[in-house]
Amino acid sequence: MALRREPHVLVVGGSDSSGGAGIARDIETISSIGVRTCLAVTALTVQTHEAVMEIHPLQPDLVADQMRAALQANKVAAIKIGMLATAEIIVAVAAVLRENPQVPAILDPVLASTSGRALLEAGAIAVMKRNLMPLFRLVTPNLIELALLVGSELAVDEDGALLQGQELLAAGAQALLIKGGHAKGIMSRDLLLRPNCLPLWFDALRLAGSMRGTGCMLASAIATHLANARPLEDSVRNGKLFVFEKLQKNAAE
Ligand code: PLP
Repeated sequence: MALRREPHVLVVGGSDSSGGAGIARDIETISSIGVRTCLAVTALTVQTHEAVMEIHPLQPDLVADQMRAALQANKVAAIKIGMLATAEIIVAVAAVLRENPQVPAILDPVLASTSGRALLEAGAIAVMKRNLMPLFRLVTPNLIELALLVGSELAVDEDGALLQGQELLAAGAQALLIKGGHAKGIMSRDLLLRPNCLPLWFDALRLAGSMRGTGCMLASAIATHLANARPLEDSVRNGKLFVFEKLQKNAAE
């Protein structure tokens, strides 16, 4: 069978009919950096920019089959995972990741929409922590997702976030990027945590206004740089720059 030789990012996630988040944002981001994508859809959602009306998870086998076909058809150089919807889909995706340990994978642990609707079913967070963490080169929780993943209250300060991050690292992830965008302050600070490395802070000026899908964009941009064989720290720096420039453009419009 013909194999496409140019590097691809395999996007695994939910569709968002509004186009604000999910796989539409992922494909837009990865393509704009100049890398090709292939796809495994996990769920169909009916959304506007204000609300999530319907969520229809796909059969877990169908998600795994899409991933295996994408990996067979293309040279997949990174995998970016977003909305997983159910515990069964998490288990199916974990099985495919275990078959492909050589491909760096990034998890954006999407738990809920900004409007407050759960995008992962109740009870699946523990399954995510147990089954997925050790399979990822990088996991990118925001402060709310981090607290839910470790089963604690929202961290009140940077020391608290650092402690929760270390607890999640102990679940096996190779690195965590804790996104501080939802916190307060003039600067938006993200923290890169790796075992046996000093914590690394990434600071950016907090911009006015907000934009949907920034979590999808950041993880996709980082995955794209990893697919281009850039080191992790470099990929995070470039990914953050990509999102900052998008936010800047959005604020100016
Ligand atoms: N819908 C899908 C399919 C998503 O993957 C995400 C986030 O990753 C969202 C909705 C939520 O996006 P937002 O919080 O920007 O509304």
